[in-house]
Amino acid sequence: MASNVYRNGTGSHKGATRPLAASNSSNVKSTSYKSRIPPSNHSPGSAPLRRSNSAGGSDGVPGRVRVAVRLRPRNAEESVADADFADCVELQPELKRLKLRKNNWDSETYEFDEVLTEFASQKRVYEVVAKPVVESVLDGYNGTVMAYGQTGTGKTFTLGRLGEEDTSARGIMVRSMEEILANVSPETDSVSVSYLQLYMESIQDLLDPANDNISIVEDPKTGDVSLPGATHVEVRDERDFMELLRTGEAHRIAANTKLNTESSRSHAILMVHVKRSVLGAEDVIPSETDKSSHFAKPPKPLVRKSKLVLVDLAGSERVHKSGSEGHMLEEAKSINLSLSALGKCINALAENSAHVPVRDSKLTRLLRDSFGGTARTSLIVTIGPSPRHRGETTSTILFGQRAMKVENMLRIKEEFDYKSLSRKLEIHLDKLIAENERQQKVFDDEVERINLEALNRVSEVERNFAGALEKERLKCQMEYMESVKKLEEKMIENQQKHGCDGFMQDKCNGEGPGSSIVEDVAEVKKLLEKEIHMRKEAQEEVNKLKSQLGQCPDSGEGGGSEILKLQKALADEVLQKKKLEEEMIILRSQMLQLTFEADQMRRCLGRNGSANAYGGLDSPMSQVRGSLNGHKTPVAALFEQVGLQKILALLESEDANVRIHAVKVVANLAAEEANQERIVEAGGLTSLLVLLRSYEDENIRRVVAGAIANLAMNETNQELIMIQGGINLLSVTASRAEDPQTLRMVAGAIANLCGNDKLQTKLRSEGGIKALLGMARCGQPDVLSQVARGIANFAKCESRASTNGIKSGRSVLIDDGALPWIVQNANNDSSPIRRHIELALCHLAQHEVNAKDMISGGALWELVRISRDCSREDIRSLARRTLNLSPIFRAEMRRLRIEV
Ligand code: ADP
Ligand code: MG
Repeated sequence: MASNVYRNGTGSHKGATRPLAASNSSNVKSTSYKSRIPPSNHSPGSAPLRRSNSAGGSDGVPGRVRVAVRLRPRNAEESVADADFADCVELQPELKRLKLRKNNWDSETYEFDEVLTEFASQKRVYEVVAKPVVESVLDGYNGTVMAYGQTGTGKTFTLGRLGEEDTSARGIMVRSMEEILANVSPETDSVSVSYLQLYMESIQDLLDPANDNISIVEDPKTGDVSLPGATHVEVRDERDFMELLRTGEAHRIAANTKLNTESSRSHAILMVHVKRSVLGAEDVIPSETDKSSHFAKPPKPLVRKSKLVLVDLAGSERVHKSGSEGHMLEEAKSINLSLSALGKCINALAENSAHVPVRDSKLTRLLRDSFGGTARTSLIVTIGPSPRHRGETTSTILFGQRAMKVENMLRIKEEFDYKSLSRKLEIHLDKLIAENERQQKVFDDEVERINLEALNRVSEVERNFAGALEKERLKCQMEYMESVKKLEEKMIENQQKHGCDGFMQDKCNGEGPGSSIVEDVAEVKKLLEKEIHMRKEAQEEVNKLKSQLGQCPDSGEGGGSEILKLQKALADEVLQKKKLEEEMIILRSQMLQLTFEADQMRRCLGRNGSANAYGGLDSPMSQVRGSLNGHKTPVAALFEQVGLQKILALLESEDANVRIHAVKVVANLAAEEANQERIVEAGGLTSLLVLLRSYEDENIRRVVAGAIANLAMNETNQELIMIQGGINLLSVTASRAEDPQTLRMVAGAIANLCGNDKLQTKLRSEGGIKALLGMARCGQPDVLSQVARGIANFAKCESRASTNGIKSGRSVLIDDGALPWIVQNANNDSSPIRRHIELALCHLAQHEVNAKDMISGGALWELVRISRDCSREDIRSLARRTLNLSPIFRAEMRRLRIEV
């Protein structure tokens, strides 16, 4: 046998029909090895043999079609029929060789990738033929396992045995599915199956027999072949699959019965679609915020779609026998068509032919990827041992040999898994949303906490502030009460003083002032009458003496001296008369003064000694005028009885006592508007100013200032005062005065002058504003009220001048430093002071030039307060309007978030 083998090998054919394995060999061993196709290697990278028409791109790996040969054991019939004959083949599995006996002395040796003897177990067959393909399919490559051979040689046995009774008998289909199902993950992967039969160029669905003309669809871009019309059944476990195979088998039998055909004449195709999710690890985009896992981008999901095609071909004998043996032409043609087309394609591929007639049949179209495509393909050729079928066996072996030369270019089909990506992104998004919600909650809690803390602090500060305010209020109240007490004491002291002077004797005695005054007046009247009477008597005496003198004209020397005596007496009398007249005027003025003071006292007592006895808002004149109401008759009487000229002349009297009384009288007269013009005409104003300049006595200055203040009510007088240097005089008086009453009078006079539009410049240049502000030092509310009135008057005139375009630039009040005092007293407790200052602020605020200084000086706050809190609606709305009209104030309020 061995020699045969050897001889057969050496005598191998060199004919054209011989397979590659034998064609070049001169020495079996060496030739066999030499001629042998490069050892098949399951590792795709090991055989870099490229085909010109390979489907592989740059990312493909070469993978030759692997071919195994399996010998079926003799069956019962063969055991009997061929008992005397040796098998037509001899296998050398360890050498992966097969010797085909041509006759008793000649044989051919062929090498295969695997040589499986009649004893080879189904498990071993699976492992060497199908397992590498299945593994590739699980890796994402397409795969094909196909059985080729003569009917009855064991194709179906090898591929399709279910092995239900005997597990070891399970064929490649069952075992492949088992392996696939064991390796996929049900969560991310899916496996579905189609089972088809190709008969007479028509594709039938073995899972849905009614579906018997399924068309093949080829993707023009990728060249992928699919059968969209075929049933795809998702398979989750082996039971599903076995059930499916049984159904398919049953349908195959039924279909074949119906078509009056045999299974051996049709091709059975099981397609297993495997879809697996993989993570494109190399595509993970590194995130800058990788530290926190929930911000990391999810890896790019990929899906690998692969297909395992298991083909149980129709019996190969038909290729040779059809037609010649008188089979039905059509069937023969069809079966032939697919199988012979397959043979032609494999030949073309094996020979690297430029044209591969893939499109000639449905089978070749379906298997386009399996031969010369991107799939890993294993072919198992089955042969029988019987020498009677040597021809079929030979052609099967040659088919296998040619197929071994077909080189595929394996390529993974990976797709971007949008669904999975979207799912993953959704999960990622949900995580982010949850995280965001958590963070939002933390943030909200924090904000709430801070708010609460702030509120607590605010209320604490408010509490503290309220406490401090209350303390301050109590302190002020105490101080106020203290000062009221002091005032009362002072008043009592004054009253006592007056009492001692004799003016208030009656009051000190607790009697009504009216009666004491009346008595005084009566007494003075008596005195006056007595004086008049005495004057009359003196006059009569003079007349008598004159007549006596007439009666004795010739009395001589003695008479002349008598005349001289009499003349002297007369002169004395005249002097006496003059004195008496003066005394009378003084007495009258005293009476008037008494009447005035008595009235004041009455008013004072009528108001229970209130500090407001001299009503702050009232001008000195109005007070005096008020005090004189009802007493016009004595004043008028005085005027009429004495004459203004005489009274004014008394201002220059040598007697100080007379002067002071005269001043008082003039002041009282000046309090009445009707007299003012006459006083001025008569030169009273000039006399008063002279007095103010020349007298050191503060009493006189106080009264003079009062008189000037009263005269300064009149516009013409104001100008006269100014012309005669009155402002300067008043300023000097103001700077020297200590007595609040003097200051009140001077301030009142200047305040009146402040209200004259024409005098603004002069008033200021002569130090009127400074004098006014200087008087505020005394702090006495009545004085402050006059100061505030003056400032308000001045601000009003100035505002008017600015509006009329007469004045430009900043307020002189601000220039003269009045603003701090204004701001400081804007909320003075005394309402007259407050009102004047509020008005002054409104006037100042009406001009943009003042705005900046007002803001920096804190006046804006006062204006805002006025616009909100002022009890007088007109001032409140004036302040509001003024603030809203000024762009500078508006901007500042916006900045300070103040709204009015
Ligand atoms: P085919 O499908 O090629 O027409 P089958 O698979 O139907 O052939 O096999 C024909 C017969 O041979 C069947 O009865 C089968 O059981 C038997 N047979 C095939 N191969 C073997 C084998 N390796 N061992 C035992 N019996 C086999
Ligand atoms: Mg079969």
